[in-house]
Amino acid sequence: MSFTIRSTVSFCLALGLAVLLGLSASRAGAQGAPASAGPPDPELIRDLIAANRTLAEHGIVDAFGHVSVRHNLDPNRFLMSVSRAPELVSESDIVEYTLDAEPVNLRGRSQYSERYIHAEIYKARPDVNAVVHNHSPSVIPFGVSDVPIRPVYHMAGFIGEGLPIFDIREASGITNMLVNDAQRGSALAADLGDRPAVLMRGHGVAVTGPSIPFAVGRSVYLELNAAIQLQAIGLGGSITFLDAAEAQAVLDDGENRSYERPWELWRRRALEQ
Ligand SMILES: [Zn+2]
Repeated sequence: MSFTIRSTVSFCLALGLAVLLGLSASRAGAQGAPASAGPPDPELIRDLIAANRTLAEHGIVDAFGHVSVRHNLDPNRFLMSVSRAPELVSESDIVEYTLDAEPVNLRGRSQYSERYIHAEIYKARPDVNAVVHNHSPSVIPFGVSDVPIRPVYHMAGFIGEGLPIFDIREASGITNMLVNDAQRGSALAADLGDRPAVLMRGHGVAVTGPSIPFAVGRSVYLELNAAIQLQAIGLGGSITFLDAAEAQAVLDDGENRSYERPWELWRRRALEQ
């Protein structure tokens, strides 16, 4: 009897050890990189390529700036290009990342140093499935001025009563202005809070959405709103912005029809190049 118990115990221990070893081996993957969550939906990859090209076409990104999407198979992974100008990004450039910004399949290529913006926002915001980081030119003034960005028209109702401004100096002192580590990324995500976007003082903006069309659409219309607001300020008179209730009504009505119409256009243009 005791022999049977001992055998069973040692069998279970051996089995447990084998499972543990197998698990750590599969988690480690090749060359110490984390294991992949599996192949992403090809349509999601095509959306991500289209997002890169669309943001470039609209001047939201130039050679700098980036866009990512949460992995459809694992909420703890996201997908983003290697370090390339977004306009040039293609399928083979897409890398899978953990939420610690560790690459799964980098294969020696260079990475965006500010990937922590994406990783820390995905960590903090389970509702966010796409993130854009850009330096779109008309938005920059509102990150360095005490004049707040506010919605001048219905397409930018998501701005609501304004957007938070992340000042990297408050979190990290004197820096090169880049959000290139986890501490800076989490400070940015904390300032974002539950808002759709956060301006970055002297740098740019991080824009989020529940999907790629939202994150891209908001990036495009945030730039347009900023440009139009600057024009309205230039007129010199007083400005009537959307008030909080009007901005909320835009959101309650589906926020620009979930950007479906522009996204169909942008995606087709981007992928038929
Ligand atoms: Zn940047």
